[in-house]
Amino acid sequence: MHKIKVETAEAREIIDVTAAVGKALREAGVMKGVCHLFVPHTTAAITINENTDPNVRRDMLQALDRIVPASGPYLHAEGNAAAHILASMIGSSAMSFVENGKLVLGAWQAIYLCEFDGPRTRTVLIKVLPG
Ligand code: ZN
Repeated sequence: MHKIKVETAEAREIIDVTAAVGKALREAGVMKGVCHLFVPHTTAAITINENTDPNVRRDMLQALDRIVPASGPYLHAEGNAAAHILASMIGSSAMSFVENGKLVLGAWQAIYLCEFDGPRTRTVLIKVLPG
């Protein structure tokens, strides 16, 4: 298993981790198989989406903010209930196939860590299975 550490800078942020995942994949040395990605956090998530226009990420964050506003009413006393909800909405895992030692992503796809309660140090766990 490989780990990527990501230092987030904002309360809510979507960060491209594709290059770091590709580096971990090279270290794993698997040429063909499946790359599983997992975020071991309850207020962060991982997803795959558009890699070119940064406005897509801004739109996603703004839409998520409209759906799940940062301020409640919420019951969770820690004050980050919205972050927990968003983490489950987006999800804690993603995957990509691997061919020729590279991630098989669409031309317009990137892998994004989604921070919902930053800034924090986040971890992405990566397991590459040959096959
Ligand atoms: Zn909490």
